[in-house]
Amino acid sequence: MIDLTEEQIERYSRHILLADVGLEGQEKIMNAKVLIVGAGGLGSPVALYLAAAGVGTIGIIDADNVDLSNLQRQVIHFTKDVGKPKVESAKEKMQAINPDVKVNTYKEFLYSGNALDIIKDYDFVIDGTDNFPVKFLINDACVMLGKPFSHGGILRFKGQTFTHVPGSACYRCMFKEPPPAGAVPTCSQAGVLGAIAGMLGTIQAAEALKYITGVGELLTNRLLTFDAKTMDFRTIPVKQRDSCPICGSHPTIDHLIDYEQAACDLASHKKSCSL
Ligand SMILES: [Zn+2]
Repeated sequence: MIDLTEEQIERYSRHILLADVGLEGQEKIMNAKVLIVGAGGLGSPVALYLAAAGVGTIGIIDADNVDLSNLQRQVIHFTKDVGKPKVESAKEKMQAINPDVKVNTYKEFLYSGNALDIIKDYDFVIDGTDNFPVKFLINDACVMLGKPFSHGGILRFKGQTFTHVPGSACYRCMFKEPPPAGAVPTCSQAGVLGAIAGMLGTIQAAEALKYITGVGELLTNRLLTFDAKTMDFRTIPVKQRDSCPICGSHPTIDHLIDYEQAACDLASHKKSCSL
């Protein structure tokens, strides 16, 4: 249990007022550790809202520096930050919002060699990446470690997200393996309306807070999709597959796989690994 200071009681009063959250829920938030993979379009709103909420420890991993073309949607980075490591720019804003939050930065790519070691220290993981190899890597690492995560993907005017907890459908239950190279464009190739990143990232932040506090029903065994052109939101039921190669009863994947960077080459990857 944490004894909240008067300042913290005031800061978090709108959480504490919620009957479903209360002081107990706020204490859970302050004890929680969340890892955000990608300090880009999705990672920006997630990092801002989780810092504001008082999540005790937030890890953020991204190998890139801030680029001018990021600022249209990656709202945690400012014009003055162009050229600066994204994780440093993000940490500065998170701590400006809430000095209570401990921010761990990882200026590196997530890959098979570091994923388990980094993820094992966190309670919940946010997938804020825009490339399929890393999405599968996050899925596989989280399933192996028994960690919950929020999947997020955006492109043009559309978004999709679901939450995985141990025992519920995973990314491979829905999509067996990454699409072939070049089959699906990324945001850096096809574009994305900036506000879409905010729409999806805030859903992911809400899922993390729901998981931490135990409030409500998570987006498990359901894939939420939306099209901002029509503002149609749908949830498609999905099932955990017993034949899933990673979470099924006879898994065939027993190690992490670094798939070839399918959707963009390594040079452009440096600018596009987070949305
Ligand atoms: Zn699965």
